[in-house]
Amino acid sequence: ATAPLAGSPARPAGQALPPVVDRIPTRDKVVFLTYDDGAERDPRFIDMVRELRLPVSMFLTDSVAGPGYAHFARLRSVGAGLQNHTLDHAALRGLPYAGQRAEICGQQNKLKSRFGLRPRLFRPPYGTYDTTTLRAAADCGITAVVLWRASMGPAGLTYTHGSHRLRPGDIVAVDPDETRAPTLRERTATLLRQIQRQGLTVGRLENYL
Ligand SMILES: [Zn+2]
Repeated sequence: ATAPLAGSPARPAGQALPPVVDRIPTRDKVVFLTYDDGAERDPRFIDMVRELRLPVSMFLTDSVAGPGYAHFARLRSVGAGLQNHTLDHAALRGLPYAGQRAEICGQQNKLKSRFGLRPRLFRPPYGTYDTTTLRAAADCGITAVVLWRASMGPAGLTYTHGSHRLRPGDIVAVDPDETRAPTLRERTATLLRQIQRQGLTVGRLENYL
């Protein structure tokens, strides 16, 4: 056991750090769709989530998504999960505990006051984190830190582990697109066709973590 670093609260004995996951071990033929930041507020994406009962998880950054929280309230009402992606999208690795805690707990508080939620899942901006991040996340009520195994960008799917196909349990990040062309709905539709071609469907991440 190591002594707590200066400035961090003492951890209750046996309280584990949250796991960091980029896939979920499962025999179910599912992958998970995650969306970051909250810059894109495509109303037709809401229709798609509702019509397909598509279980998506949105990792929201307050400074980006905040002006559009009404959009995300509508997405939540049709079944989307809303999770934590910090207040200001800071790269957390190497920052002091207090700063990391402020980014993570601050967004927990925003999502609580706006949506009445206590998110359990956290995605660090840029996927960059350290042990301090995990301690801060745990202290803010986070039970799992969620990275991704594949990402959907303008050029299609790219894989983080040299794979060339999706596998059951993979977490997929649908990248933000500054140009917004094609739209979020269209990019998701393209991804869904690939998922279906590989004999997979979409699972609800919150049910597996
Ligand atoms: Zn982000």
